Amino acid sequence: MRVPFLDLADVVTELRPELDAAWHRVMDSGWFIGGAEVDTFEAEFAAFSGAKHCIGVANGLDALTLVLRAWGIGPGDEVIVPGHTFIATLLAVSQTGAVPVPVEVDDATCNLDPAAVEAAITVKTRAILPVHLYGQLADMVTIAQIAHKHGLLVLEDAAQAHGATRDGAPPASHGDAAAWSFYPGKNLGAFGDGGGITTNDDALASRLRTLRNYGSAVKYVHDERGVNSRLDTLQAALLRVRLSRLADWNARRLAHANAYLTALAPVAAAFPALRLPTVAAGSAPVWHLFVLRHPAPLALAAALEARGVATQRHYPTVPHQTGAYAEQLGHVRLPVSERIASEVLSLPMGPHLTGSQRDAVIVAVTEAVAALAAAPGR
Ligand SMILES: *Cc1c(COP(=O)(O)O)cnc(C)c1O
Repeated sequence: MRVPFLDLADVVTELRPELDAAWHRVMDSGWFIGGAEVDTFEAEFAAFSGAKHCIGVANGLDALTLVLRAWGIGPGDEVIVPGHTFIATLLAVSQTGAVPVPVEVDDATCNLDPAAVEAAITVKTRAILPVHLYGQLADMVTIAQIAHKHGLLVLEDAAQAHGATRDGAPPASHGDAAAWSFYPGKNLGAFGDGGGITTNDDALASRLRTLRNYGSAVKYVHDERGVNSRLDTLQAALLRVRLSRLADWNARRLAHANAYLTALAPVAAAFPALRLPTVAAGSAPVWHLFVLRHPAPLALAAALEARGVATQRHYPTVPHQTGAYAEQLGHVRLPVSERIASEVLSLPMGPHLTGSQRDAVIVAVTEAVAALAAAPGR
C-alpha cells in the first residue's frame, strides 16, 4: 500500500456538490470582491473560534503583518518569536521594519518557552508572537501574564490551530489578536490563498478592515496608506463549505493521532531514539501535523519511503539560520530549537487518511525504527 503525505483531491471528492453550489452561487451573483459571502464567512469563523470579530485577508502572512502594522510596530521595535517555526512568523515582523527576536522553545511541546520570553525582553520589545505549532496552543496564560507585566501586545500565530483550545480557551482569548492562514493544506483551507484575523478588540478590528482595503473605510476616502489584502468572495464561499466540516474533520485527525500515539508508545519505549509528540495538560490540539522526533530523520524518512509511506519535515531549518536571516540573526544560537529542527519528521495526517493507511504507517514506523536501531549510522 502506498500512503501519500496528503492528497487534497479527497477534500473535493467529499464536498463536491456543496463546493459546486457555492461556486455557482458566486458566479451567478456577479460579485467577486467582498459582499455577503465574505461578511457571512467572517461571522461564521468568528463564531466558530469564539471571537467577537473576524477580518478576512489575502493570506496568513498578511494576517500577521497587518496586525503588527495596525499596532504601529515598525523600525526600532523588537518582536519576540519562537526559534522553531515556519519562516512566515519572522517575515511578518521584518515586513514592518521591526526586528524579530527568536527565543528558545520547549523541548517537549516545541512551543514558545515562557521563561525564554521573559529573559529576551528589552526596552525595544513591543510584542510577543507565539505560534501554536502543529495544532497545539502555546502556554498562553503564562505568556499573557508576562506581556501584561511588561506592557507588551500579544499576537498569536494560529495558522495551524483552527479549532484548538487550551483549558477551554481558543486563540485570541489571552492574546490581543490571532492570525490565521487558509492555505489549502491547513485544517481549514481554501482553494487558493486566504487568511484572517480574529480579535475581541473593536478598535483593532475596524483599523484592520480599513488597512486591508487601501486604507479606506469609505470608498475613495483614504486616511492612511493601506494595502490590497482582501479575501476573495469565491474563496469565502468555498471556505464556508469547509468550515461546516471543520469540527468533524478535526475529530478524524484526533482519532488518527490517538491511534498513532497508542500503537507507537511501545516502539518509543523499546527504542528511545524515537520520540512521540507531547500534549500539554489541559491542551486540546487539532493535529495539523503529527511530528515524530528521531536523531536520523532522513534515514527514517528513507526507510518509510521504502515501505510506501511518504513523509515531510516541518521544519528542517530554524528560520534564523536560513539565508534570509543569515546576516541579521545568523549569530543567534538556540540549541533546543536547532536540535528539534534537526530531528523532526511528519507522518501522514489528515481527515482523509483511512484506517488501513494509518495502520500501514504504524507497521512501517515500527519496522523502520527497529531497522535503524539494528544498523546505526546507515
Ligand atoms: C502557513 C503558515 C503561515 C503562513 O500562511 P500563508 O497563508 O501561507 O501566508 C504562517 N505561520 C505558520 C505557522 C504557518 O504554518
